[in-house]
Amino acid sequence: MLSWLVNGAYLVVSVLFILGLKAMSSPKTARKGIAWAGVGMLLATAVTFLIPGGDGGLAFFAPGKTINLILCVVAIVLGGGIAAWLGKVVKMTDMPQMVAIYNGMGGGAAALIAAVAFTSAEPPTGTHATLAMIGALIGCVAFSGSTLAFAKLQGIMKKAVRWPAQNLGNVLHTLVTLGLGIAIVIAGPHPALVVAFFLMALILGLALTSPIGGADMPVVISLLNAFTGLAVGLEGYMLGNPALIIAGIVVGAAGTLLTQLMAKAMNRPLTNVLFAPITGEAQAGGTMEGSMKECSSMDAAAMMRYAEHVIIVPGYGMAVAGAQHKVYEMTKLLEAEGVRVSFAIHPVAGRMPGHMNVLLAEAGVPYDQIFDLDEINAEFPLADVALVIGANDVVNPVARTDKSSPIYGMPILDADKARECIVIKRGRGAGYSGIENALFYADNTSMLYGSAQQAVADVITHIKELS
Ligand code: NDP
Repeated sequence: MLSWLVNGAYLVVSVLFILGLKAMSSPKTARKGIAWAGVGMLLATAVTFLIPGGDGGLAFFAPGKTINLILCVVAIVLGGGIAAWLGKVVKMTDMPQMVAIYNGMGGGAAALIAAVAFTSAEPPTGTHATLAMIGALIGCVAFSGSTLAFAKLQGIMKKAVRWPAQNLGNVLHTLVTLGLGIAIVIAGPHPALVVAFFLMALILGLALTSPIGGADMPVVISLLNAFTGLAVGLEGYMLGNPALIIAGIVVGAAGTLLTQLMAKAMNRPLTNVLFAPITGEAQAGGTMEGSMKECSSMDAAAMMRYAEHVIIVPGYGMAVAGAQHKVYEMTKLLEAEGVRVSFAIHPVAGRMPGHMNVLLAEAGVPYDQIFDLDEINAEFPLADVALVIGANDVVNPVARTDKSSPIYGMPILDADKARECIVIKRGRGAGYSGIENALFYADNTSMLYGSAQQAVADVITHIKELS
């Protein structure tokens, strides 16, 4: 009876996870989706305590298991408390690194499930041991890889790290780690083997992620996310826990699809991301022909006030400055003057998938005013003004023209093709890829220096004066 109840609840949990994920695919329903998935997680956690034990009682409350129960409750209270606190205090601009570290935690938790199983009195055998081993390998890679991704996004680790024959080394490293895992499955989990396997798997995650940087980071983050899902699903199978299996499969599938979408958006096959990473160092100190032309906030206001169509390209700098509300205020003013205003979103703008969509939705920008790269690029040559706010890599024309550039081939928003282009940024800071931007030196580009929020506020003042 109890196992029916638990499995029935897990079924409800699975439906909530799937519906939640579906709702998260649109900004309109995303909040609802988060709530559904949250309720699902709460239910899954609660009913797990009702899993029946061998003697007809509850497994968690069996005699001699009190310490496990206490540890579980302490972990839930501590983990939940820290997550709730971080959810409140972490700034929107630091969300990507938070997502990376949480993803790593998921992979690490999956690996720990396998570690506990392999060191228990009755370690898994056969298929269970094989799946636990594969899950542990993937989970360790996701954990250490995501931790490194966190360090890169947080700016703790500034450069991609490479060494000679890295790809060959990584292939050999993977084979040796797999060999250790197979030895555990065949010969049993000898402690020395288990320790060596887990260490090698953790180092593999670091070795695979360390050379990746620049514009490839979004792809690798979503790949690690898919890895975590897969690891959780495999450990769920080993534990015979349907909720873990389904949650893992859903995350794994969603992460895999997102990885494909991001790789396609960057025009970078996954094999290139992993084995021929770009770093941006080649051009970090590169020079551009021409010079940057500065304009005042009054000039920018006049150009837009008398335009027919303005396309706004937001980027990471808008997020840092928290300028989205001011940007929408300016948009409404321009619209009141009869100017058509559209927003152009690059798939990897900002520091996490959907970053700009979230910010614009938060500011109240209507969804039908926001366009993806494929939808809007043809409109730039017809637009009077492209206003680039804190974006850099996603509008860099060298991706189109310079074969030697590390971002060559990445689709960009064609802001340079608008009649006039205004770029708001604080100074000469490079984008995430660390390379110079040819757009800033173009004849039709004017630089409006300043932090995005203040710069847009100044433009608003002048638009009002002109009205
Ligand atoms: P970039 O990181 O290329 O450029 C941001 C620009 O914003 C900088 O040049 C900086 O110049 C400017 N800036 C910073 N602070 C402010 C501020 N307060 N006010 C105004 N401007 C500011 O951003 P993009 O959005 O164009 O590109 C995203 C990059 O991040 C891509 O390379 C992408 O691959 C990478 N990435 C994306 C992820 C994703 O999932 N979306 C994840 C990880 C990486 P200055 O200092 O002069 O002000």
